[in-house]
Amino acid sequence: MKVWSRAPLLLVGLALSKFGYEATPPPMPVQRPPARVTDRKGNVEGTVLVPMYHHIGSTEKYMFRSYAHFRNDLERLYKMGFRPVTMRDYVNDKMDLPPGASPVVFTFDDSHRDQFNMLDDGTVDPKCFVGVWSDFAAKHPDFPVKATFYINANGPFGQKKWAQKKMEMLKQWGCQVGSHTMSHANLKAISADKIRQEMGKCVDLIESFGFKADSFCYPYGIKPRDMSLLTKGFTFDGRHYKHTDACLAGDQPAYSPKSKKFNPYNVARVEAYPGDHGIVYWLNRIQDGKHKPYVQPD
Ligand SMILES: [Zn+2]
Repeated sequence: MKVWSRAPLLLVGLALSKFGYEATPPPMPVQRPPARVTDRKGNVEGTVLVPMYHHIGSTEKYMFRSYAHFRNDLERLYKMGFRPVTMRDYVNDKMDLPPGASPVVFTFDDSHRDQFNMLDDGTVDPKCFVGVWSDFAAKHPDFPVKATFYINANGPFGQKKWAQKKMEMLKQWGCQVGSHTMSHANLKAISADKIRQEMGKCVDLIESFGFKADSFCYPYGIKPRDMSLLTKGFTFDGRHYKHTDACLAGDQPAYSPKSKKFNPYNVARVEAYPGDHGIVYWLNRIQDGKHKPYVQPD
């Protein structure tokens, strides 16, 4: 009798707990894969474009990209399915790209003021690299300001009073800051002691702004005679320093991080200028199908 009288309650309890079990978890968010950027086939052996910028200005000349041409570089890269990654993402083969996209590693050398200039009211000057790109990124959120800046001890970016703020902004955007030595030293023209000082102090400077200084850029594209300073690291002032990668000045795209030829201390770059083997030349070749860039597979 007891068993039968309890049975309906037990069933109700089971039904409630079943209902409760099904109703409790919040609905699972639908994980949509990132939208495909182009219909190109994946190609992880393709090359990686690493453009190198110095100055920006109204007219284009040696080391200067014009405002219009920089804007055009952004537009063209975007339309061709390139998406920005940092040097760190690239050398570690951790490029977070949607399918069909190609990586582009924007690099800015020498931490010139026209790369990142603040106006007196604390807003970003629309007429500097960061300003032009920020404006573009506001209209194209999938092409954010994400670059690697190779700095010297000149502020960085020329304005001492805004240095901290600028570095905080770069960090917030996911940009990387790498070393270009304290005084843009020719590493073949100075002693090993002086090299260690130039390199070590620049790492300290970068770290003082809260960045990891793992990447290096050879000033003038000139490597030191003793490459173990890079590959094995060095000791300066009682501390060991070690860079994970280093880039050259150059005239061709860099090897895929998956390529057997990839060497992290020999990363090739292309100059952001309209001339031979510059960014325009390589984009034309890629567009014409004569050169195969890295393309993110599904
Ligand atoms: Zn330089």
